[in-house]
Amino acid sequence: MNISENLLKIKNQIPQKVKLIAVSKTKPNEDILEAYNSGHKFFGENKVQDLEKKYEELPKDIEWHYIGHLQRNKVKNIAPFVSLIHAVDSLRLLRKINEEAAKNNRTINCLLQMHIAKESAKFGLDINELKEILSSEEYSSMNRIKIVGLMGMATYTEDKTIIKNEFDYLKKCFDEIKKEFFGKSNDFKEISMGMSGDYDIAVESGSTMIRIGSIIFGKRNY
Ligand SMILES: *Cc1c(COP(=O)(O)O)cnc(C)c1O
Repeated sequence: MNISENLLKIKNQIPQKVKLIAVSKTKPNEDILEAYNSGHKFFGENKVQDLEKKYEELPKDIEWHYIGHLQRNKVKNIAPFVSLIHAVDSLRLLRKINEEAAKNNRTINCLLQMHIAKESAKFGLDINELKEILSSEEYSSMNRIKIVGLMGMATYTEDKTIIKNEFDYLKKCFDEIKKEFFGKSNDFKEISMGMSGDYDIAVESGSTMIRIGSIIFGKRNY
């Protein structure tokens, strides 16, 4: 099996409207180019330094997704080119993204990360914190960011019922937030959930973006 075959296999298993983000973290440019040359354009990274370097070195029509925890002091490094920031988990971070987007004369698309897993180590907001941000005056004054949906990571477990419940909960929150804060606007439309081990369950629960690394590029050596 090679990278392009792995990609094709996954694409054949998911509805066409679900976007596949190939998570290339820790992987060399040649692996990314192999995927790119087979027609894939969407890649995800979780370290600012790696993303900057890959952006510089690789074709400019790649759509780069930042999927990791983002520190405020690093926003400026990716603001000129990042396509979607998946894991925004505070108003402070949003404020910074808004500032840096303005400096670059862009609007940056963001997802708010929800904490849906049992593990406390995972980042993210609960439903009340999420609503607090979206109701705040400051958020409504930010004109250089666009919240286009939610992101979440399920518990790392073999128990598919736990995973399914967590993804269903994220979908339920998405529907509620969309209704309450986004009305008829079609901007709020993405649910980023599902990784190599659980993307089939995520798609069943209504995922619109899956973030897949190891079953495309192979195991990572850290
Ligand atoms: C690494 C990573 C992924 C991809 O994980 P795989 O299990 O290799 O598919 C997805 N999302 C986030 C946030 C990640 O850090």
